Amino acid sequence: MLSPAGPVVAGSFRDLAGLGGKAATDFAFHVAITWWDDSVREEMGTLVHEHGVNSFKHFMAYKGAIMATDDILVESFSRCLELGAIPTVHAENGELVYHMQQKLLAQGLTGPEAHPLSRPPQVEGEAASRAIRIASTLGAPIYLVHVSTKDAVDEIAYARQQGHPVYGECLAGHLLIDDSVYQDTDWGRAAAHVMSPPFRPKGHQEALWHGLQSGNLQTTATDHCCFCADQKAAGKDDFTKIPNGTAGVEDRLAVLWG
Ligand SMILES: [Zn+2]
Repeated sequence: MLSPAGPVVAGSFRDLAGLGGKAATDFAFHVAITWWDDSVREEMGTLVHEHGVNSFKHFMAYKGAIMATDDILVESFSRCLELGAIPTVHAENGELVYHMQQKLLAQGLTGPEAHPLSRPPQVEGEAASRAIRIASTLGAPIYLVHVSTKDAVDEIAYARQQGHPVYGECLAGHLLIDDSVYQDTDWGRAAAHVMSPPFRPKGHQEALWHGLQSGNLQTTATDHCCFCADQKAAGKDDFTKIPNGTAGVEDRLAVLWG
């Protein structure tokens, strides 16, 4: 919502969401911090004090687009702490993802099966560890959205054992679907499952279930950020161009009951 093209006027949030006072459920917004300067610091205060925003999201992936680098994480986490808001992170190392993507493309791997190879579990584990350690150094709490790997669950569990206020969420899809979907010979079906973080080998699912059972993960959720087949087709010859908003395959009820 806070974009280099100019800050969105916070008062228009409800209109942007098309809610216009007609929502039949409770709702709240969390706002992505995708760049940094004093105006962003200022607006975060306005959002918290006047518009009920109490969490901010940081994308550690998506290099060249919305990636929050360490300097931004430090500034923003500190500001969140000041405001009593909770910082959240999409934990994947964007530099590594970019490097792996270029390498795979150079090897001629252009299909959806290359997507999970470009974002292996340690890419998430590294980012989770970094975000948690930045937050705990600052004394800030932190919430990791869509945790998909044992690597990240282990980092969360370790930090919680040390007494740090670290919270984790996992998505219904990651609990039930594994990475075999990327081997589908139908390009459209494989591409439909391209999301970030990707689906994982089965062992990671067990770690997520155990994370929920042990209380190291607190939330089961869905990001619901879907793309239609026409949009996915943009990546026909290059898997890095397949739109892959986080975790947008199906919503929670459809996955659990489907
Ligand atoms: Zn995300």
